[in-house]
Amino acid sequence: MEKDAIKRILILNGTIVTQDLCLRQDLAIHNGIITDCGILDPALFQGYHILDATRKYVIPGGFDPHVHLALPTPAGNSCDDFISGSQAALNGGTTYFMDFVTPRRGQSLREALRLRRLEAAESITGCGLHMGISEWNPKIATEIVPCMEKEGIRSFKTYLAYRESIGIGYDDLRELMSIVGPAGGMVMVHCEDGEMISRLQKELLAEGKTRACYHAMSHPSESEVRAIERVIEISARTNCPVYIVHTSTSRGTDMIAAAKKEGIRVYAETCPHYLLLDDSVYCASLDDLQVMPYIVSPPIRGKSDQQRLWEGLADGTFDVVSTDHCPFNLHGQKDRGMHDFTKIPNGAGSIEHRLSLLFTYGVLTHKITINQFVSLVSTRPAEIFGLGDRKGKLLPGYDADIVIWDPDVNGIISVKNHLQHCDSEIYEGFQVHGRPETVILGGKIIIYPL
Ligand SMILES: [Zn+2]
Repeated sequence: MEKDAIKRILILNGTIVTQDLCLRQDLAIHNGIITDCGILDPALFQGYHILDATRKYVIPGGFDPHVHLALPTPAGNSCDDFISGSQAALNGGTTYFMDFVTPRRGQSLREALRLRRLEAAESITGCGLHMGISEWNPKIATEIVPCMEKEGIRSFKTYLAYRESIGIGYDDLRELMSIVGPAGGMVMVHCEDGEMISRLQKELLAEGKTRACYHAMSHPSESEVRAIERVIEISARTNCPVYIVHTSTSRGTDMIAAAKKEGIRVYAETCPHYLLLDDSVYCASLDDLQVMPYIVSPPIRGKSDQQRLWEGLADGTFDVVSTDHCPFNLHGQKDRGMHDFTKIPNGAGSIEHRLSLLFTYGVLTHKITINQFVSLVSTRPAEIFGLGDRKGKLLPGYDADIVIWDPDVNGIISVKNHLQHCDSEIYEGFQVHGRPETVILGGKIIIYPL
C-alpha cells in the first residue's frame, strides 16, 4: 500500500505521555483525526496500518509558537524559508509552528498579512501567524480590531528593542494593549529596553569597540529586567494578557513568577540557547567568525541565569520552550557585521533540535519530568495560542499530529547533518539521546520507522 494513501492508523503498545500522566494506551487514527484511545483490540480495527510503539513514547506533535522563516532584514532574509524550515521542524518532531507578519512601516496590517500568508502557504506543516506591530499611529490603532474580527488574528507581537526599525515605545505598547485586551487578544513582547541598547551601542562603537563580542555588552541583563518590569505593569493596568518571549535572565524570571502569583495574566517562554549555552560563547579571545553564530537578542547569559531558567521550567514560571528560530548564514549574512557588531543580523536556528535538546538535557537529567516536557513543547503553546481544542493533546477529536518518540537512539548535532538551511550550527557537537522514530502529520505518516 502507498504510505501516503494510509488513512487509518493504529498505534499499539506505546506509552502515551500527557502533561499529567504516562499511560500504556493505544491510539486509532482515521481521516486525520484521533478517533479512539485506550487499550484497543486490533481485531476491531480491520484495514488499519499498525505501528508498534513498544518501548516508545507517543506524544503530541511539537508546537513551536515562535519562529522567523524568511524574515526580511538588511542582511537578507533569515536563511530558512517556509519549505526548508518546515522540513527541519518535522524532522525534529514539530508539526505546527507560528511565524510572524512584519508589516513595513506605512503598510496596512491586512496587506502585510495577505502577503505573508502567501509565503506561509509553502509550509509543509501547519503554520499560524502572529501580527507584528512595527510602528504605532492612529491608523494602525484602527486596524487592530478588524484584524482580529475579520482575519482571526489573536496575538500581536511588539519589540521594545530595535527602535530604529520595527520597535515601539512603552506608551505605544500601553495603547496597543488597551485595545487588544478588551477585544480578547494577547500581546507578545520582546522585552529589551530599546533606548538603553541604542545608547550602549553608540558608546561602544565610539570607543572603537566594534567586534562581535561587544554585542552582549550592548544588551545587558538590566535592559531585559527593566523592560519586563514595565511590561508586566502595563499588562496589569490595561488588563491585557501578555506573553513574554525568549526570557533570558534570572531576575526577569523572578518577576514573571511574582506576577503570576499576583494573578496577572502573564505567559512566558524561554528558548534552548538560553538553557544550554552560556556567555563564554562571547569570549573576547575567540575569533569574530566563531562568535557571530551566537549573536542573538537577548544575548546568551551567564551560568546563574541558566540555572534559574531551568528552575523556571520545573516550577511552572515558564509555559513554553520555543526556539525563536531565525538562522542567518555566517558567510554572506552574519559576516556583514565584521567591523560593526550592530550590523550582524540577530538570530540562530534550532527548530529541528528543540525536542531532542529538551528531552536530553531536561528530562534525562531530571531537571523536568517527561510530562512537563510535553506540556512545554506542545500542550501549553497550543492552549495559549488558541488551538488547545485541536492540538497539543492525544484525545479523540484531536488532530492526528503525533510523534512516536524513541528514547534509545543517540545522535550528534552537526551542520553536516542538520536539515536547517544554515552554514553554521550553534549546537555543533551536542550529543542528543532520543528523537522521533515516526512523525504523523494530519493523519499521514511523514517520517517512517526504519
Ligand atoms: Zn523572535
